[in-house]
Amino acid sequence: MDFLREDFEYILAVYLRLSKEDGDMSVDRAESNSITNQRALILSYLKQHFPNIKVFKIYTDDGFTGTNFERPGFKEMLQDIYEGKVNFVIVKDLSRFGRDYVEAGKYIKKKFRTMGVRFVSVLENFDSLTATPTDYNLLLPVRNFINDQFSSDISTKVRGNQSAMRSDGLYIGPYVSYGRKKSADNKHIIEVDEYAASIILEMADALFYGYTVQKISEWLNIRGVLAPADYKRSQGIQFKTSFQTNIKSKWTPKAVIRALSDPMNIGTMEQGKRQRINYKVRTMVEKPWEERDVVNDRVPAIMSADVYDNVKRLLLMDMRTAPGQDTVYLFCGLLYCGDCNNSMIRRKQGAGISYICSAYNKKEKCTRHTIVDVVLQEIVLEIIQSHIKTIVYVEEVLDYMETLNVAREDLEHYDDEIQSKYQELERYSKMQSALYRDRADEIINEEEFLEYKQFYEKRCAELEQTIAYLKQIISNISVNRSDCCRWFEEFKKYRNVQKLTRAMLIIFVDKITVYEDKRINVVFRFADEFSALQNYIKAAEGFMSDIGSIGAVSGKAVS
Ligand SMILES: [Zn+2]
Repeated sequence: MDFLREDFEYILAVYLRLSKEDGDMSVDRAESNSITNQRALILSYLKQHFPNIKVFKIYTDDGFTGTNFERPGFKEMLQDIYEGKVNFVIVKDLSRFGRDYVEAGKYIKKKFRTMGVRFVSVLENFDSLTATPTDYNLLLPVRNFINDQFSSDISTKVRGNQSAMRSDGLYIGPYVSYGRKKSADNKHIIEVDEYAASIILEMADALFYGYTVQKISEWLNIRGVLAPADYKRSQGIQFKTSFQTNIKSKWTPKAVIRALSDPMNIGTMEQGKRQRINYKVRTMVEKPWEERDVVNDRVPAIMSADVYDNVKRLLLMDMRTAPGQDTVYLFCGLLYCGDCNNSMIRRKQGAGISYICSAYNKKEKCTRHTIVDVVLQEIVLEIIQSHIKTIVYVEEVLDYMETLNVAREDLEHYDDEIQSKYQELERYSKMQSALYRDRADEIINEEEFLEYKQFYEKRCAELEQTIAYLKQIISNISVNRSDCCRWFEEFKKYRNVQKLTRAMLIIFVDKITVYEDKRINVVFRFADEFSALQNYIKAAEGFMSDIGSIGAVSGKAVS
């Protein structure tokens, strides 16, 4: 989905840190950790991956420990972030950023996301823009946790200057996009620009009706709707002159895409917000300054998250549509050949309509795969109806589990367990290296050495296995009920529907594949979340062994 953000303007902060206390200067680490080396590594990374991004400033804390955030360079960077001067932070590795994993995690997982600041850590290959919930939930705590363990001083948790930022509820983003304006009284307050917002909503409607982005841009130009840059200018000069100064720019498909896919439309600059399916979310929400809604106070939303999600999907599909078409047909962008994976194309056949494999049509390969439109509609409708039934069933099971207090907290102890396993692993590898020293110093003999070595190796392998297993469990249960509810509700609206519509397909379906033997496969949206949910139920079943199986439970819930 990167294309949607290709011209978002990032202004970069490079952060470097070095500290003797943290062991950065030990023989094996001094070279790679030196300030010069950090700078060179980051700059070459930028050259390769972000050649067009401006570096605003390089912030350096030479001689400051990472166990707290009382560092002048870091503070200066925060101030600049806060003033909207930078919106992208890059570090060599997470330990440069901080060695207190709780506090560092708060910045990366919460504060930066809330403020729309992108965060990249080169060595960990972590990018907050593309990070999955798993990256956030597992990679960060664990990596940071290890950094934390290496640190020589973790006894004090410094609260730093958070309180100052906490109390401030102002918009600090670098720009205001089409659909919004800065308040006349206070440039830190963003208001909805009613006219421009209404244009965006009209565009969204047209998209839902099946109009192409191309057609929408033409339609805006014909109506004489000013393109964003001209509109902004016209707002700025409205008191100075009544003449429209040279209006050159026109709406383009790209401008339409930009306006529609702007995250500010749902009142946020926070990327990946919709994917917050963190199993610990309930605990976090309790902390007021971290509340996800804070950002919504700063930028008012003009459409619901569901509309926005579907707009973005429609935009992606639109890009696959043949140019020159004004509208798209019912299955447009959704229908694929199950055998060669090429799209299916629409053909008039006698009085009716059918679809055939596009590769076959071009005589490239594959077979015909003919499916008649009315038949396809009937089958897909049936599949969707049965999927809705399953969802209703799963929801009933979840409801029932909730009444039994099988809460997520019951499963959360896995996270603590993982961390303690990591600690143990660390201990064993230290003991292993001590073993080599002991052998070299002849404190133990060869036989003892081998015996211990074998024991430690075995133990480490077991621990690694256990950790992998625990992580698997967590990823299976990392589904938040309230996040599910959103699409549950959306799906359930169509409970009694008897006819297939484009809107319904967009809401339910990712992809439909047609096989030569006439089998039809429907890939539903939220399929991963849905199967994770089913796994969660399975995992919870173990905890409920005293109270009988899920099947019995749901039977009761239904009656
Ligand atoms: Zn094919």
